Amino acid sequence: MYAFKFIKAHSIAQALQLLHHDENAKIIAGGMTLIPTMKQRLASPTSLIDLSAIPDLHHIQLHDRFIEIGSLCTHDQVSKSSLILEHLPTLAKLASMIADPQVRFKGTLGGSLANNDPAADYPAAVLGMGGTIKTNVREIKAEDFFQGMFTTALHMDEIILSIRFPLGQRASYQKFRHPSSGYALCGVWVSSSANEKRVAITGVYPCVRRWPQAEDHLLQNKSAPSFESTPIDLENILATHDASAHYKAQLMRVLCSRATQEVMP
Ligand SMILES: Cc1cc2nc3c(=O)[nH]c(=O)nc-3n(C[C@H](O)[C@H](O)[C@H](O)COP(=O)(O)OP(=O)(O)OC[C@H]3O[C@@H](n4cnc5c(N)ncnc54)[C@H](O)[C@@H]3O)c2cc1C
Repeated sequence: MYAFKFIKAHSIAQALQLLHHDENAKIIAGGMTLIPTMKQRLASPTSLIDLSAIPDLHHIQLHDRFIEIGSLCTHDQVSKSSLILEHLPTLAKLASMIADPQVRFKGTLGGSLANNDPAADYPAAVLGMGGTIKTNVREIKAEDFFQGMFTTALHMDEIILSIRFPLGQRASYQKFRHPSSGYALCGVWVSSSANEKRVAITGVYPCVRRWPQAEDHLLQNKSAPSFESTPIDLENILATHDASAHYKAQLMRVLCSRATQEVMP
């Protein structure tokens, strides 16, 4: 590892001031992605601005129509919060499926969304539920937030403060873990409310995305349908040496059926 400054910010204002002061500075939350990236020299910030001591970023609050989760909440906290277990149990389950206990104790919701790994789990929940990402300057709808592989709508000096997850949906998340990394080879989130069905796919494309043909199929059926002949955009699938486009497409179909059976029995 090379030399860099490590500064603990105690407020958002201080973190922003530090970011403006050094154009090569980077925010650090859990460090679960940033530190390995630095070790591999894929990133070499001159200073790290640690958000962990900022008190306003650790809350989990129930509102009338949504639950707001502070960006610094760890996967472990999300998986065990009594409020989330009661009102968004599928989100708690998804958090418990991320990596291993060590990563879940350090990795954060905000860090995962800002990183936008194509195989990360939370993006499927945020897009699948129609969540909103609140930053120090604006509120960004999930549809506008995830823009491409490791790319989001965040500007250089924008910090995620919290994420709002709407209530009143039945949901299921089905994940097929990569046997070595634990990341999603394919993850399917299905949400159903009185007037909307949403299907979000992670692990398959360069960026999380909805599967509109499956959503239409769900709207046309009262009970859980099969997705055997639902069209899939094969061309843009991120095929790897261990998972071809056809294999990932088949996983999408199978996992979507399983998720739908839970949501629309
Ligand atoms: C061995 C291993 C296995 C893993 N398996 C999985 C898995 O199965 N599923 C999964 O989804 N993830 C997995 N992860 C990723 C992990 O869960 C973390 O979510 C992820 O590493 C990022 O969170 P972090 O808090 O550690 O962010 P950091 O590493 O601290 O930061 C990541 C990036 O986000 C930026 N950032 C952080 N917080 C904010 C903020 N509040 N506002 C703006 N920008 C911010 C940083 O500047 C940096 O660019 C795994 C990681 C490891 C090391």
